[in-house]
Amino acid sequence: MRAACVIGWPIKHSRSPLIHGHWIKQHRLDAAYRGEEVKPEAFADFIARLADRGYVGANITLPHKEAALELSEPDDRARAIGAANTLWLDGGHLHSTNTDVEGFTANLDASVPGWDSRPDEAVVLGAGGSARAVVYGLIERGFGRVHVVNRSLDRAEALRQRFGAAVQPARWTAVPHLLERTALLVNTTSLGMAGQPPLRIDLGPLQQDTVVADLVYVPLQTPLLTAARTRGLRTADGLGMLLHQAVRGFLLWFGVRPEVTPQLRALVEADLQT
Ligand code: NDP
Repeated sequence: MRAACVIGWPIKHSRSPLIHGHWIKQHRLDAAYRGEEVKPEAFADFIARLADRGYVGANITLPHKEAALELSEPDDRARAIGAANTLWLDGGHLHSTNTDVEGFTANLDASVPGWDSRPDEAVVLGAGGSARAVVYGLIERGFGRVHVVNRSLDRAEALRQRFGAAVQPARWTAVPHLLERTALLVNTTSLGMAGQPPLRIDLGPLQQDTVVADLVYVPLQTPLLTAARTRGLRTADGLGMLLHQAVRGFLLWFGVRPEVTPQLRALVEADLQT
């Protein structure tokens, strides 16, 4: 039996066992996927003995993504982003990548086809861990200017240092003006998430063909997405990204490319409501 896991601290909230468990059952594989709660001080030892524990690979979640990068052989993408969320063993080597980038872009491809047909400008709200993957993905898809709006401007500036001059750091006060010409608006802050302050933003200046994406998926229908839909704009939600980012790990560990289906979405959506 091949087995993989998701490693985090805490791990209870992770939907990865539900997603991978669904695919294992759907493809009738002799495989397992478990959640592993590992404290930061025990992480290095845990992944050094991944094979002894019976695992062929793992997903990595908070707070271990940077440590995972350090302790593995990262691909260009993980190295550029500075964090790894997927590990796999191959010939005794522990490899890593970051699948949040393709999770973000594949979700947009599926939910809003043609979203990158006007890749001049994008506005990204937030400059944390998830913003790094989003900005990388946007530059990869040809966006010429990515305005990164953040409360702490130095974090937005760090993204410019990391990814180059396409990144334009900006303050929240600049948002109304930036919205007038952007093709895409993405929320990567935790604003709007259950238990966090709301994201207060007037979508009035957006053009009618602007796409709005939110990475927050609890709640699934965020006030930002509701406001965008009410205005008739096309949207992509955070659950889609979560599901699409899981695809490559499953392929690497179990040799089957799984699909993000409406059935899987419904399963995770129901779980998010419990
Ligand atoms: P980080 O903690 O790394 O970054 C949080 C960001 O939110 C920072 O830019 C921070 O600004 C900003 N922020 C937080 N509170 C406030 C506030 N009160 N006012 C203004 N800005 C604020 O988090 P992540 O990037 O890891 O995650 C962000 C969100 O994305 C979470 O809701 C997470 O669940 C979701 N996510 C979803 C994924 C998916 O697959 N759908 C994948 C990864 C994340 P500052 O720097 O100034 O503190």
